[in-house]
Amino acid sequence: MRFIKTLSLALALGFSNWALADVVKFEKVTDNVYAFVGETDDRTKANLGLNANIGLVVTNQGAVVIDSGAGPLSAAAIEKAVKKVTNQKVVAVINTGAQDHRWLGNDYFAQKGAAIYAMQSTVDTQKKMLDSILNRIMGTDEIFKDQTPLHAAKPFQANDGKLEIGGVVFELKYFNDAHFPGDAVVWLPKQKVLFTGDHVYLDRLLGVHPHTHAVKWLDAFEQMAKLPAEHVVPGHGRVADMAAAQAETGDYLKQLVESVTEAVENMGALDDVTPSRDWSQFENLKHFQGWHGRNVSNTFQRLEMEMM
Ligand SMILES: [Zn+2]
Repeated sequence: MRFIKTLSLALALGFSNWALADVVKFEKVTDNVYAFVGETDDRTKANLGLNANIGLVVTNQGAVVIDSGAGPLSAAAIEKAVKKVTNQKVVAVINTGAQDHRWLGNDYFAQKGAAIYAMQSTVDTQKKMLDSILNRIMGTDEIFKDQTPLHAAKPFQANDGKLEIGGVVFELKYFNDAHFPGDAVVWLPKQKVLFTGDHVYLDRLLGVHPHTHAVKWLDAFEQMAKLPAEHVVPGHGRVADMAAAQAETGDYLKQLVESVTEAVENMGALDDVTPSRDWSQFENLKHFQGWHGRNVSNTFQRLEMEMM
């Protein structure tokens, strides 16, 4: 019934099946592993809130989707794109985070029989921040108003979770809080593919929000970077490798944390932070102008508060 409701909502709002199908397109990462690289700009009606990357792993017992999109419309678009890659049904969805585009499509896939998996830490944030998560996506456009938040039924309790589907091993790992508290990664040890969720931003500058703890994120990144990944599917931006993740996310986080820590410990001012370092290697990242200042001030306020 929900599917019919969603479909009629989509049609009522002028979205044909064709338009939905056009939004998501998976590219091959390695055998049986695919990624959709979403836009690196804001959520829009046209991108169905999918300004983020989504993963797909095809096994002989079904397809596994990593992150389910920003609601039923993006989930429908993901499902259509899956059908272009494989005849296998989506049997499982794994959430790497709590941000809207990571999990609000869970209900759509669950209605069609998929099992939902996530770490307990991720589910805790999905619940705790539900209002702000929903406000964010619903505020984008009225097409996002139809939402049924659904969490993983039995979240993995420790910092590691493991599941095997069709002979493919999926390891979920929580290292520390990253872009959102409770962010996790999905690691395919045999294929050496790492779906980093919002631990890694490529092509665009990462964002430190008031709820983001940059020191913890740096710690999570450094632990994650020890995995022997050959293919890195970031949360945002192109599919690449760990060297690119280090250069565009790890190095920036490190310099951000070090420069802000130094200023706070020396009773320095917020305005001292940026001139204290050379940021030129990050200036070519999209949104640097808009986000760098915010990243510095949110990190400064957080660390200053903790010092008091
Ligand atoms: Zn994100």
